[in-house]
Amino acid sequence: MGVDVDRSVASTANRLRSGSYLNGQWVEGGAEFDVVDPATSQAFARVSTINQAQLHEALDTAEKALPLWRSTTAKERGALLHRVADELVRRKSELARTITRENGKPLAQSEGEVAMSEDHLRWFAEEGRRVYGRTVPPQVPGKRHMVVKTPIGPVGAIAPWNFPLVLAVRKVAPAMAAGCPVILKPASQTPLSCIVLAECMEAAGIPAGVFQLAIGDAVMISREFLSNPKCRKISFTGSTRVGQELIRGAAETIKPLCLELGGLAPVLVFEDCDIDKAVEQTVIAKFRNTGQSCIAANRIYVQRGIYREFVDRFTAAVGKLKVGAGLDAGVDLGPVIHQRALDGALQQIADAVAKGARVVAGGERVAGLAGYFLQPTVLENVSDASVCMSEETFAPIAPIAMFETEAEAIARANDTPYGLSAYAMTRDMGRVFRLSEQIEAGTLGINDGAPTTSQLPFGGVKQSGWGRELGVEGLDAFLETKHVSMGGI
Ligand code: NAP
Repeated sequence: MGVDVDRSVASTANRLRSGSYLNGQWVEGGAEFDVVDPATSQAFARVSTINQAQLHEALDTAEKALPLWRSTTAKERGALLHRVADELVRRKSELARTITRENGKPLAQSEGEVAMSEDHLRWFAEEGRRVYGRTVPPQVPGKRHMVVKTPIGPVGAIAPWNFPLVLAVRKVAPAMAAGCPVILKPASQTPLSCIVLAECMEAAGIPAGVFQLAIGDAVMISREFLSNPKCRKISFTGSTRVGQELIRGAAETIKPLCLELGGLAPVLVFEDCDIDKAVEQTVIAKFRNTGQSCIAANRIYVQRGIYREFVDRFTAAVGKLKVGAGLDAGVDLGPVIHQRALDGALQQIADAVAKGARVVAGGERVAGLAGYFLQPTVLENVSDASVCMSEETFAPIAPIAMFETEAEAIARANDTPYGLSAYAMTRDMGRVFRLSEQIEAGTLGINDGAPTTSQLPFGGVKQSGWGRELGVEGLDAFLETKHVSMGGI
């Protein structure tokens, strides 16, 4: 069965596959589930799943594909990845519409996601050629030492729904560039973008078994990845709760894990900032992807001297954001992913208000729309005891609190088990250095609400995860480091 992703065009031009891609074949016909459009709350596609025996076989296939793929030159692997990127570009408008339909984000942001995915593919296509080992001087005369980098082997990749394409590509591209076959499991809310990715892999001529797409039950798939020795590494992006489950499961087999987990990003707005820039970048950091980004600004702390001015100007900027279905023109904010997310967001608002916060914008579900739409919401005087200051919000709610000193701001920013990203608005270079050294986060954006890019490492500290994606670190995650010692040749 196919999937028509374009609700306004009743043609078959956009019909996608609707199942998994294993060993170079499309596998359809298993138990099915619905894909729901969060802008309408209606199912618009059905996708079929695979079972454990099929996944087990996929790992056999990946292992068989390893010798050929790792001995293919990095240049040739890179050329194939460039072809995948070419396919993404060829299908970019259809792909962006697919992302918007299953995830809800505004079309312009889906187009941005496709462009970033293309950039990841091309960057790792090139960087794969720079996997250098090294030679090291010996301690003992006559000995020789080499450090050799080799692909880790078949990788199990598990992706979330919030950036359904780019967060999958962030695993798949470096793994493949490093010489590893990959089995990708997309989130159940958003399997279609990864189906398009698999179609692009097929069209680009990626050898069978090097890239496989496995749609199915998350627990079954992760158990197989964890227990099957043919899966040599799991790369996971998702919630800290599931990350903890994977760590427990990995203890049995000492399975290496790369974990990109939840965040609770603080924004520190200092009195010396350029306030126009601070407002602009905080709006981006908070409301991009309708607040459903792991690096979304979760807590905004503003220094006393500019508190009133910042809150007023920020609220005015938020008031200009247009909410609507992502496929409609000029929309800045789409729906949240499902009813549970909407209910959770409304509870966070009620909790903050009960603890003394004032709603200065939004605060309610958008009336008259069938999907899961929340008004972009600004809360001020929010108590640190509020749930939205200590738990990930994943919705368009901006809670603001006041601080007095830099030391206090840093202490409050760090007072959390999470540490994925943080933001600061300041023009004081001394402060930039102090924040760089003292803020506990994997990424710090200074006057920059969108810091992520292909060539720089991305990941969390504390309970936000283990390891890094992107940059040279993101490639190294899929390489083993081997010491070769020669006693005399
Ligand atoms: P999630 O529930 O953890 O799901 C993420 C992925 O894990 C999905 O593919 C899901 O499959 C799968 N999954 C669910 N239960 C599993 C289990 N027991 N074992 C193995 N896999 C399992 O997270 P989410 O709600 O989709 O995403 C939101 C979370 O991801 C947020 O906390 C966000 O901060 C985090 N995130 C982190 C980053 C980062 O780079 N650090 C980036 C984006 C998002 P099903 O869909 O089939 O259940």
